[in-house]
Amino acid sequence: MTRLHYFMPSQFPSPCCQYCSYPSQDTRRHLAIHCPSRLQIWQALWSLLLPIHPFDPDKIWYSLLFFRTSPDTITAGNNS
Ligand SMILES: [Zn+2]
Repeated sequence: MTRLHYFMPSQFPSPCCQYCSYPSQDTRRHLAIHCPSRLQIWQALWSLLLPIHPFDPDKIWYSLLFFRTSPDTITAGNNS
């Protein structure tokens, strides 16, 4: 990833994601959510826990950043 490459170029010779080779600039978001292996896990958890809501990685990112559900998720839950 870009930061690891910057600080330890000998151990991380490429700035790309070491799991999927995506040339990510937003490394935290990619590593936590958008990297394909993690995205599959998030999709599985989402369908298990929130089956009536369409999958939205941005809401997961919001929840990880602020340790609560996004306001859109709460609103959608109250309308159903
Ligand atoms: Zn990746």
